[in-house]
Amino acid sequence: MSVQQITCIVCPRGCALEVDARTGTVTGNSCKRGAEYGIAEATRPTRTLTTTVRVVDDKGETLEVAPVRTAAPIPKGVIFDAMKVVNAVRVVKPIKRGDVIVPNILNTGVDVVATRDIPR
Ligand code: SF4
Repeated sequence: MSVQQITCIVCPRGCALEVDARTGTVTGNSCKRGAEYGIAEATRPTRTLTTTVRVVDDKGETLEVAPVRTAAPIPKGVIFDAMKVVNAVRVVKPIKRGDVIVPNILNTGVDVVATRDIPR
């Protein structure tokens, strides 16, 4: 299967793309950004991981969870393993938005960062 049907998610218009990764051709796009997205999605799909980490006290008891996300998209194929890494992480207060929670997750070159302040 060399031609893939992909919905462009770059803008709300949602063009229905047909992408031939073998030849690098894209049809159905209304703009250049859609062609770039279609090729990227067909050849090296990425996703931003958005999840939470546990915030614990000094005894390791969970107090609450803190929202985190990858600072940039990571390869779709490592999302499940990245979730396992993040699920094993425990953090303590205070947390500032933008704090690096997991540096260079799975050697992707992308950090997992806090997306909200959690005061002491
Ligand atoms: S191809 Fe262009 S116009 Fe169509 S959804 Fe993608 S970004 Fe929007």
